[in-house]
Amino acid sequence: MKKYILFITTLTLLVIFFIPIFKYKKIKTASQKVSNYKRGVYHVHSLYSHDSVGKIEEIIAAAKNNNLDFVILTDHGRPNIKSSLATKRYGNVLLIGASEFTMDCGHMTAINYKLHSYRFAPEPQEAIDELKEEGAIEFIAHPFDTKIPWKNWNIRGFTGIELINTYSCIRRCNPLEKLIAFFYYHVNPSYSLLYISKRFNKRNFLKWDNLNNDGKYYGIYALDAHGNFHFSKKFSLNFPKYEDIFGCFNIYVKVDQSKDLSPLEEKNEIVKGLKKGNFFNVVELFGNAEGFETYFLTRNGKKIEMGKSITERDGEIFFKIPTKEKLKIKIFRNGKPFKIFNTNGEKTLKVKITERGVYRSEIFIEKSLFKDIPWIVTNPFYLMPPDKREKVKEKEDITLSLPFDEKFFSTRNDGPCHIKLRCIDKDKMYEVSFSLKKCKNSNLFGVAIYHKFKMDISRFKGVEFETRSSKKMRYFFVLRYKKGCYRHTFLSSEKWERIKIPFSKLVECSGKNKKLSLKRVKIFLISVNNYISYDGVKNTLYLKNLKLYR
Ligand SMILES: [Zn+2]
Ligand SMILES: [Zn+2]
Repeated sequence: MKKYILFITTLTLLVIFFIPIFKYKKIKTASQKVSNYKRGVYHVHSLYSHDSVGKIEEIIAAAKNNNLDFVILTDHGRPNIKSSLATKRYGNVLLIGASEFTMDCGHMTAINYKLHSYRFAPEPQEAIDELKEEGAIEFIAHPFDTKIPWKNWNIRGFTGIELINTYSCIRRCNPLEKLIAFFYYHVNPSYSLLYISKRFNKRNFLKWDNLNNDGKYYGIYALDAHGNFHFSKKFSLNFPKYEDIFGCFNIYVKVDQSKDLSPLEEKNEIVKGLKKGNFFNVVELFGNAEGFETYFLTRNGKKIEMGKSITERDGEIFFKIPTKEKLKIKIFRNGKPFKIFNTNGEKTLKVKITERGVYRSEIFIEKSLFKDIPWIVTNPFYLMPPDKREKVKEKEDITLSLPFDEKFFSTRNDGPCHIKLRCIDKDKMYEVSFSLKKCKNSNLFGVAIYHKFKMDISRFKGVEFETRSSKKMRYFFVLRYKKGCYRHTFLSSEKWERIKIPFSKLVECSGKNKKLSLKRVKIFLISVNNYISYDGVKNTLYLKNLKLYR
């Protein structure tokens, strides 16, 4: 009898447990492909990353099975060379090579940058400025992740932030939820992925709106697909697979497709769309959103696309609704709910705007089992007054020149690296020639010139100098203590340039947040190592007019 009851109970529990899965189905949509939009996935890792084993063929096959137009590959590195060079068309799928940069304060993805003989800055603002200069775009990855959150918001000018990141969602699940998701996955992968995604962090959306109060920043749905999930350092499972996750979050990017595009042109078009904010995000597992693309702001018969700014204060937002399903359409103004509509089979919706502000929309499926996850998230229209801010002139600093002579600097080299220092008296200049070579049993290498301090530099705000390099390269400026050190990188190009490094910007080398004490500095050095350059690189650095300023 007891056995019988146990059997019935288990069976009932199993039925209750799995019933929702059978209730899940995609909604019916127009599915009319509008030719000037490309549908793809963003933030994908392959075997070029230390924490993924996915082969490129696997990724392409998964993209083809999901009818994607593109995949943005973002392997770890600053940059990841192999991933950066991966742009190629495979049938109908364009693979776009990019990277996920490990920065001092978290992870940031970058797309469409150049490759150099040095790595990008680990300091966020410097990297963003350099990337901008090269026409690249960058998104702050998993901003409030439980393991690797983004810690520095005193930055400006980046492209946008991730709104939902699947890997981050899995991390936010408790152990029981992870186990349930894993069981669900083997019965219905789509259901399992939505079950995980409902753990997305709403703070990402709040931060996004907040950022848009002071600039233009775009929101993007990210997969962070690894082809596996690391439960601990040594234990990982092949879940979720590329095939399944590629059908989860898609981005729809506007491109100009008036002619046949080469792979490079197509990549440029997609980058251009992302850079302009002319894209929207879709939970593809709820339903395909083709047919929604005719979403814009109209003013005097003129179409204004997502991401655009206008100085006028009025217009009309136009929606084409691609499904008969009941939807809830939320329009936000400056991050606050502005209007909410419930649709019931209407084909279009027009919403009047009479005030300036940042307007964006979220669309929910009323009957969905996961009602809280927005099916479609658009990027904003900006109805902003003309920018009248003027640049404030910087005050001149008082400086102290550091002595110029042969004995001021000493040199050091790790393992097989070479370094030679020369003091050119007539030009009052240091010349540092070096070649980098990695040590036999490790990837480490580095060279430096250093000076031992015998003075208290606490009354100074920073250091400045003029520099040039035979070829453009990144270097470290480092202040060293008895225990540990503080650093900041700088770029030196073929032309003479003045570099100014405020001490307030220095970062603790180990990543800990210890306070910088300028009274106890023992050594300062200028160095280059494997963290910012590559094995085999040779160069000459020139340095003059070394000063402390206050
Ligand atoms: Zn990451
Ligand atoms: Zn990632």
